[in-house]
Amino acid sequence: MNAPFNSLIPAYVMSVYLIPETIIKEIERMFNSFWWGGGTNNGGIKWLAWDRMTYPKAYGGLGFRNLHLFNMAMVAKQGWNLMTKPNTLVARVYKARYFPHSSFLASHLGNNPSYAWRSLWKSRQVLMKGCRWRIGDGSKIKVMHEPWLKKDDEKWVPSPQEQGVSNLYVNDLMLPRGKVWDSNKIHNLFSSNVANSILVVPLFGDIEEDCLVWDDDIHGNYNVKSGYKLLLQSTISAEASQESEDWKCIWKIQAPPKTKHLLWRICKGCLPTRTRLKDRHVQCPTSCPLCESEEEDDVHFLYGCENSKQAWQGARLGHIVQSLTQQASSSKDYIMNLFRNNDRKVAGKAAMLLWVLWKNRNNWIWNHERDNGQQLGRLAMNLWHESEAVQNEYSNRGQHVQQTSLSW
Ligand SMILES: [Zn+2]
Repeated sequence: MNAPFNSLIPAYVMSVYLIPETIIKEIERMFNSFWWGGGTNNGGIKWLAWDRMTYPKAYGGLGFRNLHLFNMAMVAKQGWNLMTKPNTLVARVYKARYFPHSSFLASHLGNNPSYAWRSLWKSRQVLMKGCRWRIGDGSKIKVMHEPWLKKDDEKWVPSPQEQGVSNLYVNDLMLPRGKVWDSNKIHNLFSSNVANSILVVPLFGDIEEDCLVWDDDIHGNYNVKSGYKLLLQSTISAEASQESEDWKCIWKIQAPPKTKHLLWRICKGCLPTRTRLKDRHVQCPTSCPLCESEEEDDVHFLYGCENSKQAWQGARLGHIVQSLTQQASSSKDYIMNLFRNNDRKVAGKAAMLLWVLWKNRNNWIWNHERDNGQQLGRLAMNLWHESEAVQNEYSNRGQHVQQTSLSW
């Protein structure tokens, strides 16, 4: 999914320029339509906004690429080169034109900026979040306007500070001889909070030159993937962070990916049951297509329908459903409880059963073919055992078993 997404815009363009928001939105709109079905030009229902789909799987998304943030992370690589290779021609040209008297991080947009500079300048924020100076002799690092403190959440000396401070370099805060903080001077200049966060920054005698490092890399080098991860992380809501454990639970169960995607849809409130379609103003009956006696919503589909109940029994999973039907207040609760409380295999069987139930329901609507609940239960177990056998086959051959990736 991400490969064709990127090939719409050549990589070199994305690595130099920030693509305008209107174009990004249009591409995302196309891909969102494509993903949810219904073609790119008609009004098929898009159940979730694209930005939610770009969350990592562990945070309730599907890990699709957020094109704008990825674009920023790519352009930031050029910014990184400006700072770490200041003697290249391009770095010297930019410096002369846009920031002759400051660093790139402290630069201003300036008058009549070129599009490339505007892109670079905006993407600076990636570097401002993830870079830090490793202190050598401290002669290149301005005390203000550069990230060099050791704290994770705050690498910058907060402003405002007394006027004189903005002209100081980090080596002005060291004793004249030896590489040691001038504690008295620091306490005189700064509030005790700031002074303390300065004094805990380690000074190593063997590092001679000030050097900019990217925090999230073992060698201190910036890479696009890591920049993207940092940007994406900052868009994830606190609510999504709290649910992270639940989502991990879902993605790691032992079952084929298609079944997990169905679970994801149910949890996200995106399963197109008839009552949900009606809420989206689709003209259709709301009764369950299988039993026709009750309205079809998530809960009815999951375990309310007689057909579903029989299927759970047929799969010999009736006991795990019964204990849950009383507790769950929503279909998402239900799914999360079911998959949190059972081991990966039992959870995998349950996921397979739900997938079989949904397929049977659709097969009835579109092809007028259906199986009874008992048959569906057995079918689900057969399918699950088959998929397990395939997994074992891979493991036995010593190959890397493909697990659903939770990485970025
Ligand atoms: Zn029903």
